[in-house]
Amino acid sequence: MISEILQYNQRFVAEKGYKPYETSGQPDMKLAIVSCMDTRLTELLPRALGLKNGDAKIIKVAGGTLLTPYDSVMRSLLVAIYELDCEEIMVIHHSGCGACDMHASHFLQLMRERGISEEDIREAEKHVDLNKYLDGFHDTPRSVRRTVDAIRQHPLVPKDVTVRGFIIDSRTGELEEVR
Ligand SMILES: [Zn+2]
Repeated sequence: MISEILQYNQRFVAEKGYKPYETSGQPDMKLAIVSCMDTRLTELLPRALGLKNGDAKIIKVAGGTLLTPYDSVMRSLLVAIYELDCEEIMVIHHSGCGACDMHASHFLQLMRERGISEEDIREAEKHVDLNKYLDGFHDTPRSVRRTVDAIRQHPLVPKDVTVRGFIIDSRTGELEEVR
């Protein structure tokens, strides 16, 4: 896959395929989005929101949640707010999210099947509680609310930043606000 991508990339650059996407690094809209890495959303999410290249900072991780108040998603949001003048944040979970129904026990079983030893698992447990780290959020609206609240109440997020939560339909792109 990667070799094919590299061949395509040479053609893309040679044929100036980048021309329609040229923009500055400063987002045109003062907007950041936290969402899921699900491949159904790759094009659907920006299209359904009317966003083009250069409009918004989009931060994507499995599930679109914060793991901790100081994880890499939160750090990216702080960069968006302070360095890129972001004034509004959308938290967008989606229907049928794989990170919703994850179970740590099943995850660990898959790891063991791929050759991860008990010793490796114990080593990882020194850094993180795997039962929480690998578990899904199970309730999508609740997870959206929890993520929105964690950002709103974060000590380093200014109170004038607007944070709103949504669930996007993974097929139609329809947004539903979670209040
Ligand atoms: Zn997802």
